[in-house]
Amino acid sequence: MTAAADTATPPVLPEALGSAARAFVAGPHRLLIGSERLQAADGRMFSTLDPATGREIARVPQAGEQDVERAVQAARAAFAEGPWATMAAAGRERLISALADAVEEHADELAQIESLDNGKPVALAQFVDVAGTAAHLRYFAGWPTKIEGGVLPVGAPNMLCYTRREPVGVCAQIVPWNFPLLMAAWKIAPALAAGCTIVLKPAEQTPLSALRLGELALEVGFPPGVLNVLTGDGETGAALVDHRGIDKIAFTGSTEVGREIGAKAGRALKRVTLELGGKSPNIILPDADIEAAVKGSYQAIYFNSGQACNAGSRLFVPAERFDEVMSGLVSQAANARLGPGLDPGTQLGPVVSAEQHERVMGYIEAGRAEGAEVVAGGEAALTDSGGYFIAPTLFSTTSDELRISREEIFGPVLVASPYETLEEVAGRANESEYGLAAGVWTRDLSSAHRLAAMLRAGMVYINTWGVVDPSAPFGGFKASGVGREHGRDGLEAYLETKTVWAAL
Ligand code: ADP
Repeated sequence: MTAAADTATPPVLPEALGSAARAFVAGPHRLLIGSERLQAADGRMFSTLDPATGREIARVPQAGEQDVERAVQAARAAFAEGPWATMAAAGRERLISALADAVEEHADELAQIESLDNGKPVALAQFVDVAGTAAHLRYFAGWPTKIEGGVLPVGAPNMLCYTRREPVGVCAQIVPWNFPLLMAAWKIAPALAAGCTIVLKPAEQTPLSALRLGELALEVGFPPGVLNVLTGDGETGAALVDHRGIDKIAFTGSTEVGREIGAKAGRALKRVTLELGGKSPNIILPDADIEAAVKGSYQAIYFNSGQACNAGSRLFVPAERFDEVMSGLVSQAANARLGPGLDPGTQLGPVVSAEQHERVMGYIEAGRAEGAEVVAGGEAALTDSGGYFIAPTLFSTTSDELRISREEIFGPVLVASPYETLEEVAGRANESEYGLAAGVWTRDLSSAHRLAAMLRAGMVYINTWGVVDPSAPFGGFKASGVGREHGRDGLEAYLETKTVWAAL
């Protein structure tokens, strides 16, 4: 972190960056609080780096406690007496739709910003992150006019009893770096639909797209204070979580930080939803279409360079088909094109940061040391680039006890293991502290649905992996989280029920 503001030499940005993205990334970047664009009160800034080169691309403010205070006040004012509180539901719908339009109009720019800041292939940013952001906003734009209470058939005579669904209040929304814009959309869309106001904190590795989203919200006419954006690190996040003016916390990130936030929310009795880690089992049954299963299982782990909470990171393969599946995966891994996200030929970008690179490489070393066999990859790649590349890595082992078999790696590392029977594999798949996702590849309907019921996971994929839709609940069992995002469940997390009794 540095106190030097925007005055240092401007970073050299990659040539592939289009003019709109270039103009935005060049800055200057400010905190978005109410209608103001502000430096941090204490003037601190930090750098965000290009994961493909390790070079600085921009400097953004590091929000401290005073900034958190101002942002929460702005959000409280917009919630309590501001235009947001009094706006008709149809007005909220129009604004959320307008934000979806703006995201679509700026799709190229947003995809390039995301690709540069996070490292992911620009096509992935376009079709997953940006398209998903617009889809979430559109879906939740439809909700405000459908949020209804009910009149209740209570026993007391001459009594009118009804419920009102009211917004929870001011929300702290803390998001990670793997899908920065999309995770912000997953959080803000239901909160806005419910009528809440927001202080959004993107991850310190990838702060840019959330700042752009915040600007677009102001441009399309959201009242100031409805969506405030604070850039900063875990300290900023913690100050936000601790603030008395926050009614609800929504967090996506590591299980470790999620536990801490959950504990704090419990003590303060703040509403909380947590979307945390995973170590998701992906099971190929003996009768599966093996070609489809190999392709799907490859994508399940290496998509986004393995940086997805629902990555299929444990692969279970019938012993008699193990070699066939391994050789299919190895040949795909050998042909993977690694490179900078902004290069249109890139299939696999770098991991997000030097720290993450070190962490993932540490797991690869641990896997070797504990006796797993490296079947593909197992090393850093494109090491001359200065970027954080890792070759798609495949381990084979018969043990479920290794660190690589139990702990979330959050990188392009798959651990494959043979099994003999359905009951055995279901037991082994569930033997995890996590329960986010699970997958089954089979042509047999009965086995597919038997396993879907047996697997302790928030999402089960049959002959596919990782599909997401704004209408379909997303979230985890066990240490993978608390609550659900998306759909009606996702909206409910931002609503309180008030029961009104009136003697007639
Ligand atoms: P990772 O380890 O993958 O970077 P984290 O859980 O540390 O994931 O980070 C996810 C988000 O949580 C980021 O926005 C980060 O700044 C924020 N964060 C980290 N530590 C804390 C904390 N103690 N309290 C609140 N937010 C935090």
